[in-house]
Amino acid sequence: MAPETGTAPGLERLPVLLPLPLFKPYDYLGPPGLQPGDFVAVPIGGRVSPGVVWTQGGPAERIDGKKLKLVLRRFEAPPLTAETLRFVEWFAHYNMSPVGAVLRLVMRSGDVLEPPAGVLGYRATGMAPARLTPQRAAVLAEATGCPVPAASLIQRSGVSHVVLKGLEQAGALEAVRLDPDPPYAAPDPLRASKELSPAQHESAQSLRRAVREGRGGAILLDGVTGSGKTEVYLEAVAEALSRDPAAQVLILLPEIALTLPFLSRVSERFGAEPAAWHSGIGSAGRRRVWRRVAEGNARLVVGARSALFLPFRKLSLIVVDEEHDGAYKQEDGVIYQARDMAVARAALDKFPVILASATPSLESVVNVDQGRYGYERLPARFGRAQLPHVALIDMRRDGPAAGRWLSPILVEGVNETLARGEQALLFINRRGYAPLTICRRCGHRMKAPHSDTLLVEHRFEQKLVCHHTGFSMPKPVACPACRAPGALAACGPGVERVAEEAAGLWPQARLTTLSSDTAPSASSMRSVLDAMHAGEIDILVATQLVAKGHHFPGLTLVGVVDADLGLAGGDLRAAERTYQLMSQVAGRAGRAEKPGRALIQTYDPGAAVMQALASGDREAFLAAEASSRRALQFPPFGRLVAVILRSRNERVLHETAAAHKAAAPPADGIDVWGPAPAPFYRIRGEARLRFLVRARRDINVQAFVDAWLRRTKLPGSVRRAVDVDPYSFH
Ligand code: ADP
Repeated sequence: MAPETGTAPGLERLPVLLPLPLFKPYDYLGPPGLQPGDFVAVPIGGRVSPGVVWTQGGPAERIDGKKLKLVLRRFEAPPLTAETLRFVEWFAHYNMSPVGAVLRLVMRSGDVLEPPAGVLGYRATGMAPARLTPQRAAVLAEATGCPVPAASLIQRSGVSHVVLKGLEQAGALEAVRLDPDPPYAAPDPLRASKELSPAQHESAQSLRRAVREGRGGAILLDGVTGSGKTEVYLEAVAEALSRDPAAQVLILLPEIALTLPFLSRVSERFGAEPAAWHSGIGSAGRRRVWRRVAEGNARLVVGARSALFLPFRKLSLIVVDEEHDGAYKQEDGVIYQARDMAVARAALDKFPVILASATPSLESVVNVDQGRYGYERLPARFGRAQLPHVALIDMRRDGPAAGRWLSPILVEGVNETLARGEQALLFINRRGYAPLTICRRCGHRMKAPHSDTLLVEHRFEQKLVCHHTGFSMPKPVACPACRAPGALAACGPGVERVAEEAAGLWPQARLTTLSSDTAPSASSMRSVLDAMHAGEIDILVATQLVAKGHHFPGLTLVGVVDADLGLAGGDLRAAERTYQLMSQVAGRAGRAEKPGRALIQTYDPGAAVMQALASGDREAFLAAEASSRRALQFPPFGRLVAVILRSRNERVLHETAAAHKAAAPPADGIDVWGPAPAPFYRIRGEARLRFLVRARRDINVQAFVDAWLRRTKLPGSVRRAVDVDPYSFH
């Protein structure tokens, strides 16, 4: 029998979870007094790793007491709370991921655990030096009041380090150690907000009440674009912050919506900068946010989906803005849906979560209908702004000549708009020039190497690019298959090609293209959006970068070049996503005084989604979507889990898949479909097959999948991923 305590006196056996793809903590020996949630350093496989003293889950790997290794030390970082540990456990179980991999999302790289080395700074003492040169005077002027980092003193006053040293010796400057992670100023929830309209006020009061009463559960805040949802949910944020001085609030946004204007709007409301968490903040910025959140100093966090894993001390409210957005689904590594996990976290800790959208997901709407979520609706745009008029253009009847993409009706619409001195947006959700390059002689299609993905021509960069693998190459002069020179032809439109056509049609207009290729950084994107806002652009040709959250007062016409684009591919949510994206884009028009309209080009004007867009009858569309999903028992009426197998060795892959199929135990209310090849079967030399498990809603599908996969063997050359509630599969 292994003893319960270690052989060394005074040491205790402790489960420690490491941020590695492990399903359980390991046992170590540690000094008494270590608590669950403490960050510790432990030896593992000949190196030292940070980990967390764990309590949750089943028993840790039992190892004979004599063989147990020692905990080396405890980190200074504040321990994870019991709520965070519970969330990590729940999350790992639900998403069928190794709990250690989920902990890694919380711990990041681990470099956040060490207190940062201080930065050298200087402060003027108030004592004048005997010799006051202009250089010295400049330094003292900069360093009066708050201490300033030495590096910025040198930069700002244009002096060398010797001057600072001289002033220090003369007693005029005092050296200080500065914290490189300055604390966040406290948000002031009592600051005056904008005066709310009666409808906004009513919704705000009801959200405030939910926060005050500490009601757990989700509330859907459903309001058309421009109705003031942000103003309204910021009231709930104010309530949470003012009720409890330790409370922390998280506002989640899709990465793309995390722009400076949004952050300044939040800063303005609370008179203090929120902690911003997104891919652009760099490692120093991440450490600052992580540490300040862990200490409880950062009380208001605005972040992308991974902000859900910050080590909050007392999370009390989450807002998920644009809750319908597909960007909340993390598809690589640990796979999860951040909105759903936010709802789960709120339910576990019993605080409210607000889901805001102009085009809510079917999941949320059904949850409201079935009484699981609360509901607040803002029916109208704020002020005098009107929703745009939406019309469909039937491309079968009214389409343009071959090789062109803008129909005469849309061209006329742009003409009228420009004649009135207003702005037009041409929207096409496809990067590059053309989605397909094909040889006119032999029919060869240009694909990425060892992949079934098509190469997209980017004429701007003069390259062929694969959007799935990242592969790129110069466009060849001759067809690589039949060697015919000059036979490679571009097929179909991308944003660059539409811009080319528009430039030809309206040579006098000020025209700009916006896509992640033409504006690769946040600042280049910002400058285009600012120019559009200022009326310095007549025609903006853009991808979905432009779809969200921006106000362009002079924009009165939105032309959707290819509304059918998102409908191909047979994805369960394709129609819903198209509806959402088209509404969001159309919603850019007429946001101010002038009325706006949207012209939508489609080859399938009879489709339910197009009819719903034209009539603005969202309820009818959602009802039709809901009934078709109910008939198929698809989410939210049933459960889906995907099991994906990948390998470079196709024979082994198919044998493994067949063995998986045979091992699936029969179960009532559960179907195992597949294996089916991925639409792009091969990517970077790896072939991929997928099983889809569909289960009745009341069934614990994770338990079934777990039992099934335990009965299978996975050869070393095959990799397996589980995707609970899958969205896309490329
Ligand atoms: P949504 O989030 O629903 O799209 P916003 O909250 O962004 O709407 O509001 C749209 C625009 O209207 C913003 O510019 C916002 O500042 C303005 N606005 C909304 N409500 C008010 C109000 N009560 N007073 C003044 N401006 C408002």
